[in-house]
Amino acid sequence: MTLSETYENDIKKVLITEEQLENRLSELASQIDSDYKGKDLLVIGILKGAIFTITKLASKIKKNVEIDFITLSSYGSDTKSSGDIKLIMDLDENVKDRNILVVEDIIDTGLTMKWLIEYLQSKGAASVEVCTLLRKKEAHIYDVSAKYVGFEVPEVFVVGFGLDYNQYYRNIPYIGVLKEEIYEK
Ligand code: 5GP
Repeated sequence: MTLSETYENDIKKVLITEEQLENRLSELASQIDSDYKGKDLLVIGILKGAIFTITKLASKIKKNVEIDFITLSSYGSDTKSSGDIKLIMDLDENVKDRNILVVEDIIDTGLTMKWLIEYLQSKGAASVEVCTLLRKKEAHIYDVSAKYVGFEVPEVFVVGFGLDYNQYYRNIPYIGVLKEEIYEK
């Protein structure tokens, strides 16, 4: 993989702008504030992809919430899921009897989310809801329902706002589509 000096040269098109991300995450945060009124809430971000989403979303939530992280991996170094979930770093908090909101960057086949929901339920979570910035509706294989969805995206490989290709491009402040030659290089 040969990288350009700056990411702009590697992006074919901007799919979702910074402003759109900002506005949609504000809407979701208000919805979360109202849905969890009077309830305890533990927000769990899935590393590394959800870093930007959880940071932006949590900074817009007015409610007092706890935040924790879990690191999972389903993709190898390619653009296709390996079909196998690995728990790389576990949570610090005990989830027993807690209301959990999982924050994810993107739901593709749904495998990662299905695995995590079952994991949290097996640890005795009182409730588990999902907030995903992006969802590839057509790619769904596993049946997982996300209560909060930022944007539906087509079946293309996207990067930016935390989403990577070979660990790069996470720092792009918008959601973009990579030029094909980046994969082919
Ligand atoms: P799933 O388990 O739903 O098939 O895949 C979820 C995970 O795959 C996401 O957390 C993300 O890390 C990765 N993923 C799926 N689609 C894309 C994509 O278009 N771009 C990037 N960068 N990662 C993706």
